[in-house]
Amino acid sequence: MLSESETIYHIPLHQLPAYRHGYWILRTGEPAVLAATLAEENPERLVAVQLWDLEADSEPLNAWASGLPVELVLGDPATEYPSLYRHSNLLDHHPVSAVVPVRPGFLKAVKVAVSLDFAVRLDIGQPDPLLIEELLATLDFYLHQPSVGQPIEFFHGTLLGFYHDQPLSLWTVLGEEPQAVRFVADDGVESGYGRLATTDFAPTIEPMADFESLLDRVLATAQECRNCEFLHSCSGYFKWPLADYDCAGVKRVFGQVRTAALDLRRDIEAARA
Ligand code: SF4
Repeated sequence: MLSESETIYHIPLHQLPAYRHGYWILRTGEPAVLAATLAEENPERLVAVQLWDLEADSEPLNAWASGLPVELVLGDPATEYPSLYRHSNLLDHHPVSAVVPVRPGFLKAVKVAVSLDFAVRLDIGQPDPLLIEELLATLDFYLHQPSVGQPIEFFHGTLLGFYHDQPLSLWTVLGEEPQAVRFVADDGVESGYGRLATTDFAPTIEPMADFESLLDRVLATAQECRNCEFLHSCSGYFKWPLADYDCAGVKRVFGQVRTAALDLRRDIEAARA
């Protein structure tokens, strides 16, 4: 369990004055205001900035806080992907990621982000069964497209877990560990992050609740998780917020990631022999 001072808070820029503790991921649609505001702040508390309006001019961030990760958050990937090109100069001074929601047409946004040498983090939610084929096509692109030079998460972290036989929970791979991350809404109300913000479980989750007890709670209601061959790579992630979500599609994705990892390990061992 982490203390308040060790927690990462996702904070809208205008709520920053209320937070003198912990670490911050700041979100804004106004990069110029962000850079001006943070001129007075302790940069050691800042973990990353998120740009939520891709039409905004990110030039004020270019030479500011060199090395600080910048995340470009897409709302509708099918229509917003061209806006990614506007921010390619950020790479001169920052690691840049595109946060891509798994909605129809998201593969196009992934391909554009990869072509710009951005890392990608899929905001996967509880994907509709109709999106599983696009998810598998994205995985195929990640595995076989030579131009992919940056991680596409959650594929990358999950594949490494299978490869090293040390599975990583999706909560960890996607930076959403409930005991470590809190979300601050625009009105200042604090909650769990991401899929935990609106879940049925949320009212019973205390700040900084122990992750194992959260996991026990979801496993107690999800027989499917207890018997799932991917439990150690997933930790019940897809049973939030809707505990009756059908995991058949995501299990296909996990299965193909595992196959790719084992094939890779076999090939490397054969090459060393
Ligand atoms: S894939 Fe589904 S059933 Fe398996 S551990 Fe994850 S949430 Fe549970």
